[in-house]
Amino acid sequence: MPIYEYDCATCGEAFELLILRDERPVCPACESADVTRKLSLPRPKTAKTHGKAMRAAKKRDRRMNAEQTRERIEYEEAHDD
Ligand SMILES: [Zn+2]
Repeated sequence: MPIYEYDCATCGEAFELLILRDERPVCPACESADVTRKLSLPRPKTAKTHGKAMRAAKKRDRRMNAEQTRERIEYEEAHDD
């Protein structure tokens, strides 16, 4: 669920809102619906996402290594007279 930042055009309040589907943002200070969504989010999300992607890649590599090891053992066992 996305959290957006808004500026209230009526009172100038800046606030963050978690917007559910079809929900209209309203200023928490003056309850005006005349709010503008900010485009940029100053959140360090990329580092977090990057770390998650790296962990997923490492997990995949570990799995692939395990499969390769198993295949090699099976190959060696099959060819071990
Ligand atoms: Zn307001």
